[in-house]
Amino acid sequence: SLQPETIKTLVKVAAEQVIASAPELTTLDQAIGDGDHGTNMKRGFEAVLGKLDAISAQPLDEALKMIGKTLVMTVGGASGPLYGSFFLAAGEALSHDRHLPDDLADVFGSGVNAVSARGRSHAGEKTMLDVLVPVLETLRTAAGQPDLIAQVRTTAAEAVERTAPMQATKGRASFLGPRSVGHVDPGARSSCVLVQAVCASLE
Ligand code: ADP
Ligand code: MG
Ligand code: MG
Repeated sequence: SLQPETIKTLVKVAAEQVIASAPELTTLDQAIGDGDHGTNMKRGFEAVLGKLDAISAQPLDEALKMIGKTLVMTVGGASGPLYGSFFLAAGEALSHDRHLPDDLADVFGSGVNAVSARGRSHAGEKTMLDVLVPVLETLRTAAGQPDLIAQVRTTAAEAVERTAPMQATKGRASFLGPRSVGHVDPGARSSCVLVQAVCASLE
């Protein structure tokens, strides 16, 4: 299992990357939403950084649940409860006799299912699920392969770009109808930032 120092570095790198991407996330949300995705995510991950010592003192399942609760309480908007559910469900799955790295796809899949259930959404609706679901597919199909991390990185990067031609049918962007076409989804981008950060610190 992951050592506390490894968990600490991983969470720190991921939070810092999200915070650094806040201006870009805001710009994306200004185009097809209400322009707060960057500030929402920054607020949430600053709260995570503030609890970094407490989070990384826990075993990974409890650490994930703490992150989830923190995000639910601090991010707000549509994305807060969704990201919160992701981490809570992933932590919950890890608590129930799943082990990394063997069950990584299973644990990640529990998080994805929780987002889908809470958001009543699926891939193809121009949301964060359009990154999370393809990443899950790669975790399944490339499990055990030596270049798994590289494959996940490529999948996430390509999946973000594929949200641009989609028309949103969930979230605020859906209010724009066909005018949501031609812009990358902000939540898809933040999911990609998180995935890339975790990959970078595991490489
Ligand atoms: P809000 O839209 O309430 O201002 P944010 O701007 O923080 O919240 O988050 C917007 C992002 O949340 C969208 O770009 C999209 O990726 C994601 N999102 C919104 N609704 C859903 C949903 N039902 N299922 C999955 N993701 C969603
Ligand atoms: Mg918004
Ligand atoms: Mg909002």
